[in-house]
This record gives sequence, C-alpha cells and structure tokens, in this order.
Amino acid sequence: MQDSVTKYDVIIIGGGAAGLMCAATAAQRGRRVLVLEKANKVGKKILMSGGGRCNFTNYSIEAENYIANNPHFCKSALSRYSQWDFIALTERYGIAYEERKHGQLFCRGSAKEILAMLLGECEAAGVEINSSSEIGLISSHQGDGPGYQLEVNARRLWCQSLVVASGALSIPTLGGSDIGYAIARQFGLSLTECRAGLVPFMFSDFMKAICERLSGLALEVEVHCRGQSFRENLLFTHRGLSGPVSLQISNYWQPGDELQINLLPDVDATAWLLAAKQSQGKSRLATLLNKHLARGLVAELQALWWPELGASPLAEFSDKHLKSIGEQLNAWCLKPSATEGYRTAEVTLGGVDTDGISSKTMEAKQQKGLYFVGEVLDVSGHLGGFNFQWAWSSGYSAGLVV
Ligand SMILES: Cc1cc2nc3c(=O)[nH]c(=O)nc-3n(C[C@H](O)[C@H](O)[C@H](O)COP(=O)(O)OP(=O)(O)OC[C@H]3O[C@@H](n4cnc5c(N)ncnc54)[C@H](O)[C@@H]3O)c2cc1C
Repeated sequence: MQDSVTKYDVIIIGGGAAGLMCAATAAQRGRRVLVLEKANKVGKKILMSGGGRCNFTNYSIEAENYIANNPHFCKSALSRYSQWDFIALTERYGIAYEERKHGQLFCRGSAKEILAMLLGECEAAGVEINSSSEIGLISSHQGDGPGYQLEVNARRLWCQSLVVASGALSIPTLGGSDIGYAIARQFGLSLTECRAGLVPFMFSDFMKAICERLSGLALEVEVHCRGQSFRENLLFTHRGLSGPVSLQISNYWQPGDELQINLLPDVDATAWLLAAKQSQGKSRLATLLNKHLARGLVAELQALWWPELGASPLAEFSDKHLKSIGEQLNAWCLKPSATEGYRTAEVTLGGVDTDGISSKTMEAKQQKGLYFVGEVLDVSGHLGGFNFQWAWSSGYSAGLVV
C-alpha cells in the first residue's frame, strides 16, 4: 500500500448509469471527480439494455411507476432532472430514438450511443475513470477535514464526497454486487428487504410441462396480482412465463401468491360461450377458441378444462361447465413456484432505506458527505425506461451538490 494519498473532491463507486451521470454533473461544476469501476469496462448494463437499444426513458414518468417503501421519495429528483432533460441531452448528441408502446423511448441505432454520450460528457468535464478497481477498506476520515479514505488497488485515495452508485444484486455477470449495502451498513444506514424484480416466473406443478410445450408462444393478456394489473405480452418459455407482462407483475408478486391471467381481456368469455352455445351449437369449443387463441394453447386448455368433451359439439356442454370455462379464460389462476431470481432479474427491489437519505441531494442524513444514487436505493421502476430515468435523475441530483 502506498503511503501518499491522492485527493479528489468526489469519488464515485460504480461506473453505471447513475454513477456516470453523477460524475459528469459534478465535474461540470468544476469538481475533481474519480469514478471507480470494478469491471474491466463501465456501463455494461447500459449496453445490454433494451435488447441492445436501451429503453433510456419514458414520455410519461410518474411516481406511480416506482415501487419503494416511501412512494414520495423519488418525486424531487425526478422533477429536478426529468425525462425531457435526458431527451434534450440525447438530441444534443444527435442520437436517433423512437417511441414504442406506452411511451417507451429506445435508441434507433444502438445502446452504445447512450454510453458514448455519457462518456463524452464525462471526458469533456475532465472526469477520471478507473476500471478494474478493487475497493478495500473505506473509512470516514477527519485528517484533512471531513471526508473518506479508500484503499483501492494498493493506492490510498481521499475524497470529500463519496457517492455509492454500485447498483444492486441483479445479474452478477453484468456487475450486480452488494458492496453498496455493505457500505450503507458500515455507516449505520438501514436496508429494506431485497428481492429480484422484473424477472420471469418458474413453475413446479403441471404448468412446468405446459410452458415447455408452449415455449416461444406469445400473446397479449392482462395479469392481476395483489391489486395490480398489467396488459402486455405474455411469453411461454421452457422455464416458465416471461414477456413484459410477467416482468411487470413480478415486482408485486410474493412467494405463494397466485397470478390471475385474463387470456381474453376484450371478451366476457362466459357470456360469449353461452351465446355461442345457442348460435353455433354444432361447433366444437376448440374450433371457436382457435379464432382468438393459438391452437397449441387451446389444446392445452382443452386437456385441462374439458378433456372428455374434446370431440363434442358446444350444445352438449352444460351451462355450468361453460360458465366455469369462461371464468377461467378471464381469470386463469396459476401459482408460480418461484422467480428466476437475481440471475436474470432486470432490477433488485428494496435496498438502502430512503428514510435515511435526503430526497433532494441523495446524501445520507446522518453521514455527511456520503451519497447513494441509482438502483442501490430502495426505488425500483416498472419496465419501460423508468429505471434508467431514476438513475439519471438521482445521479444528477447528487452531482449538483457533491
Ligand atoms: C439485462 C437488463 C436490461 C435492462 N434494460 C433496461 C432498459 O431498457 N431500461 C431501463 O430503464 N432499465 C433497464 N434495466 C435496468 C437498468 O439497467 C438499471 O436500473 C440501471 O442500470 C441502474 O443503474 P445504476 O447506475 O444504479 O447501476 P448499474 O448500471 O448496475 O451500475 C453499477 C456499476 O457499479 C459497478 N460495481 C458494482 N460493484 C462494484 C464495486 N465493488 N466496485 C466498483 N464498482 C462496482 C458495476 O460493475 C456497475 O458498472 C435493465 C437491466 C438489465 C439487467
């Protein structure tokens, strides 16, 4: 370990979305800023995001799009640096983008352009970035005034403001780590319970084999769980259920909960089936359903709900039986055994308890000079660009004051 200490105004742990935004903002104010990144490259999640096209924000950002113990915490930062601010930045860099469903904004070209833009901002402002940094001991250090001393790759570093932008537990191969929580604990901050979010479901019952057989099939459904509902595409995979609708509802699902899946969200299935019994009594139920749902799925539903009547005309079904089938079409109750966990989760729900953090500056209330930004905090967004917007907004808010 070298004896001399290299001094910075600001050290940021983590060169992801929030860390780079914070670094550029602080350096533009004339602060001497160092970003310490564990991986060999910064911004790996940005590059992987949105299928390589980075869903970087959303036209409609509201506090309701976020899940947090304190639902008001995110408001201040989101209004200080809004989606319009980030859109303006991308436009200054000439990044072509497009709106997809539900106001989601994606790069037309590549997520690389977003990372290049952030790195461009950092470079122009003189930010220093050290990748492959192994962070050792961190201490709050009074020697040269209040600040923090860090041991990093056998060097001693000192900073006035320490920003934790190390993200959370999701996808360890893309940098997911718990160092942010360890630092929070070290300085007496509380954590809320963490679990995987925006993550596919798995099954251990009869659905396991059904999902395997239907693997690759996608259809638009409405899913309900714990008073929340989303209407989007559902995707059967060889491991279970994925697709945007599964990821969205996974943020609310708790182990043991059932999902209610409305396979025909625009149809009152019971009324439709009872009417069809009168008007098309000679048709088979499967033939009727094939007009709305994929054949493979209808065959699976037949095996579950009317196995004895597969070859029978609708007129032979009792009204009671049709009512039960109709109800299940509109609310198919499935009980996942688990989610795929942090291995594939897009976010981590929970994190550093925001009760201990200033919503204006992201500084720890009881620990001067220590800041937390991005996903490490207990703020998680819906699918659709909300998580990056939180990273930009919280990173910027801290960048203005560090
Ligand atoms: C596959 C995938 C696709 C996604 N797509 C989207 C999308 O399209 N739109 C959207 O809004 N959100 C998306 N997300 C979520 C989004 O990527 C995150 O919410 C966002 O990156 C969080 O930003 P962050 O800066 O807090 O953390 P991160 O971007 O995860 O950055 C944290 C950084 O800290 C580094 N780090 C970790 N530990 C250490 C350590 N000990 N020392 C130094 N550095 C460390 C990591 O290597 C990483 O570079 C996606 C996530 C995944 C996994």
